[in-house]
Amino acid sequence: MSLSFNLDGKVALVTGGNTGLGQAMAIALAQAGADIVVAGRSSAAETGEAVESAGRKFYEIKADFSDPSCVEGVVATTVEQAGRIDILVNNAGIIKRNDALDFTQDDWDSVMDVNIKSAFFLCQAAAKRMVAQGSGKIINIASMLSFQGGIRVASYTSSKSAIAGLTKLLANEWAAKGINVNAIAPGYFATNNTAALQADPDRNEQILGRIPAGRWGDPSDIGGAAVFLSSAAADYVHGTVLAVDGGWLAR
Ligand code: NAD
Repeated sequence: MSLSFNLDGKVALVTGGNTGLGQAMAIALAQAGADIVVAGRSSAAETGEAVESAGRKFYEIKADFSDPSCVEGVVATTVEQAGRIDILVNNAGIIKRNDALDFTQDDWDSVMDVNIKSAFFLCQAAAKRMVAQGSGKIINIASMLSFQGGIRVASYTSSKSAIAGLTKLLANEWAAKGINVNAIAPGYFATNNTAALQADPDRNEQILGRIPAGRWGDPSDIGGAAVFLSSAAADYVHGTVLAVDGGWLAR
């Protein structure tokens, strides 16, 4: 088999693909040839325009992953509308900041429901279809806090450390069934998720000072990793957590 990053004929479901990293990955997958389904709570019209300009089909499903019971419906609708599901990008995520001494159960549960519980059950629902078709690619979005502790983000660190562990567990169970389960761990990217850090002059300086590349990541920096892990070029890549971090973890 020749090396291929081409995604022609594939269908990718990207959660939270209306903005930030999800939008950038959806557009990159479309440019590589995939039709795109975005599931999320906000309008993804801008992503849709970019996907259609790349010549691919675009579908949108309204879903709020703070209620994990919606995930089976999201995957079923993806298959009904787009015909199949070849790629799942579990990107939707939230963060809550507070000192661990003051952290509330609401801020724990809300982050865990979106970032890990919905993500797992999306993997399960997608994998049922992928096992039946004998192939599929799942990309979970991890974080530097899949490797490090962070500060004032107890539920976020717990959820992203869990994503790294879950990615490896699912790779163990599903690799032999033709499904590649991997994760991308973004470093510090300029999106809504990091708006508070970018706006805090001290944290901004600390973060920039530690990134060997010397700049925040731009969402467009993440597309190549998503295309690679979605493609036949990654057929023998299982259970890895690929950092796209400007060198942050190398420090
Ligand atoms: P963002 O806030 O711009 O995007 C988050 C996306 O998730 C949005 O589309 C939002 O609508 C969606 N979402 C959140 N809660 C949802 C819910 N209940 N139901 C449906 N959709 C929901 O942030 P981003 O930086 O683009 O984040 C994307 C992913 O990347 C997240 O998982 C985040 O944790 C991760 N990440 C981001 C960075 C970074 O530096 N920006 C670093 C590491 C990991």
